[in-house]
Amino acid sequence: MIARQGREVSLAAMDSEKPPRVDAIPAGLLALFVELGIHPHAIGAHDLHESILSTWRDEKPRLKRTSAKVHIDRGALERELQILSEHAGVKLVSRNAVDSFDNVIDATGRRAICAEKVVAPDDPWIARVWHHSGEFSHTQGALRIAPTNIGYAYRIGTRTELTVGFVTPRSMEFHSSIECEACLRCSGGGWVLAGIPKLQSLRGSRGGTASVQWSCNQEAVALGDSFFAPDALASQGIALGVSAALRFVRGELDAIENRLSHLTNLRRMIGECRYNGFPSWRSYDAFLAEHSRAQDGIEPIR
Ligand SMILES: Cc1cc2nc3c(=O)[nH]c(=O)nc-3n(C[C@H](O)[C@H](O)[C@H](O)COP(=O)(O)OP(=O)(O)OC[C@H]3O[C@@H](n4cnc5c(N)ncnc54)[C@H](O)[C@@H]3O)c2cc1C
Repeated sequence: MIARQGREVSLAAMDSEKPPRVDAIPAGLLALFVELGIHPHAIGAHDLHESILSTWRDEKPRLKRTSAKVHIDRGALERELQILSEHAGVKLVSRNAVDSFDNVIDATGRRAICAEKVVAPDDPWIARVWHHSGEFSHTQGALRIAPTNIGYAYRIGTRTELTVGFVTPRSMEFHSSIECEACLRCSGGGWVLAGIPKLQSLRGSRGGTASVQWSCNQEAVALGDSFFAPDALASQGIALGVSAALRFVRGELDAIENRLSHLTNLRRMIGECRYNGFPSWRSYDAFLAEHSRAQDGIEPIR
């Protein structure tokens, strides 16, 4: 968007081929992507999803109404955004050249390379993710979430792609798909995998840190996860990043990010989780409680 305003923009990106993953975004965000020139079908968005199937509170899966979401092919979104930026005249430069620019925007995600300090749980939660291609109905692609005594598992799909994630604190050291599937089934979450092949036969996909974190004292403007990375449970990261970028483009440099409400919502979700008495959940909740009380929890974007 800055390049479209006629200003010179360079992008220092890492070229890495990222495996496919299905993510959820608020339906309203699709309108912005259309305005930018991205057709919904180009990013795998076909259907609206307005409910989640989950065993968060009860042993039996329950359907919970949510705000309207669309499920998208995350890799396709990134490719489309890259094509748009090339059309707008954004130049690709080497990462080493960054020092030669006057204004730097840090959009390096959770790496937050310009931050002096990153605040995160001592034992961050990590998502291990698998991917399955095929033809899936609206129901098969619906978001399903099953908590376990050490974390949670989820499944989400588009018409042609399904993603399964298994999220635990890093220290749990679940390495193999066989171990993850066994743990999920032991916790009564086998229903999440209904109708799809065993995890061990699926392709590994793009996981990463899923718990909340934020940066302090950036040397540059930080946007998206590099400033504030919400917990993946909230499915808000893409929308929050885009919204922060829009505010930046509009020159609203003093806009504030309300981290405290995210921490409060997460604590409420954990409070409702039927496994919340187990150590992993208690320890994450203790981290959130410590930082929910902090009066310095709201910081300006720069
Ligand atoms: C398993 C999982 C599932 C998720 N599901 C959802 C979901 O359903 N919905 C949702 O909204 N959010 C979801 N999220 C969160 C979402 O992925 C992030 O909030 C979002 O990607 C943040 O975008 P970003 O551009 O700030 O950072 P990123 O997407 O992390 O992008 C950062 C980029 O910077 C590049 N980079 C890093 N270091 C350097 C460097 N030194 N030089 C140059 N480039 C660098 C990286 O290669 C990367 O391309 C999920 C996260 C995980 C882990």
